[in-house]
Amino acid sequence: MMKMKSFQTRVLLWLFWLLMVSLPPAEAVNIVFDYSYDSNGFFTPDRRVLLERAAAAFTSRMTSTTWARVDPTTAGGHYELAVINPSTLSVSWVTNAILPTNQITVRVGAIDFTKSPIAMMTNSTGDGASQLLSILNVSGAMTNLLANPALFRPVDATITFDLQGIKGFSATITRQWYFPTNPDLNIVDLNPADPHQSDYSDFYDGVIHELGHVLGIHNPLVYQTILASDPNFCVAWTSRVQSDGQGGYVFTGAHARQFYYNHVGSNIPLDTDTRCHWADGVRSVMATNWTSLSYESGRPYFRVPFSELEFGALQDLGYVITPVPKASLSLAATNSNLNL
Ligand SMILES: [Zn+2]
Repeated sequence: MMKMKSFQTRVLLWLFWLLMVSLPPAEAVNIVFDYSYDSNGFFTPDRRVLLERAAAAFTSRMTSTTWARVDPTTAGGHYELAVINPSTLSVSWVTNAILPTNQITVRVGAIDFTKSPIAMMTNSTGDGASQLLSILNVSGAMTNLLANPALFRPVDATITFDLQGIKGFSATITRQWYFPTNPDLNIVDLNPADPHQSDYSDFYDGVIHELGHVLGIHNPLVYQTILASDPNFCVAWTSRVQSDGQGGYVFTGAHARQFYYNHVGSNIPLDTDTRCHWADGVRSVMATNWTSLSYESGRPYFRVPFSELEFGALQDLGYVITPVPKASLSLAATNSNLNL
């Protein structure tokens, strides 16, 4: 039987309600896409939706993560931020750029990778994508904020896609981007009658891969010939990368190691050249769960979600990750794409 609420209880409930409605909504981290550099017109409205959905796949797991405001004018210190045009790859540097609380901006666009000034991009046959980000000359209070081994504060970045991937197949362009049209990204909606079915690379898959890098699984040394960086940029990642004593490298982050299938608790082998992709054979939680940041040939899934092992790596970088397992995706096979 329900009891009538006392006056006192009702006042308390009313005060509680007043408190709740007067509080601002819980802040969540936000990845803002900047299309103003997309001079080649890659980002149609439907492709923008896919970008936003990919960003939400990360931020929906980060509702308790805080990215501090970056503002040297009030906090002191100094840094320079690379601003890279995704459609030309020209680089300029901005001194002491302010990054709002809980926000980064990702400039997006596309360029014909074969005409890229960056040599390692020119091999793309249609489906390349790359993240480009850097900071320089970090000092004073900015050191603790932007070069902290215990907590990675992401910065504004650029992601560029191979423009050849929307030009159609040809003798030299052998791969194309595939843009899913089914709102349920668990469903493969490729046309089975399309003779080029195995020659597509999933755009959403590529975005997830590149955002994983932007959020801190990134080794600036890979880009050092084209993009200078502070030696401690991404130190939250690089300080957890060690030699395995046999010419290879491993990631030592304790959270990621808990998801390393068949080797729980062990250091996780990395791709030797880049040291920011997992080595062939690394699986997350289950034998069938591949990782997003992988170069493994024969990667059997068309669309690989960001794995729990990789969310664990983000935890190792200092993010608070909500432990909600994502629906597992089991999708059809194609070749892997050239995601740098
Ligand atoms: Zn990559």
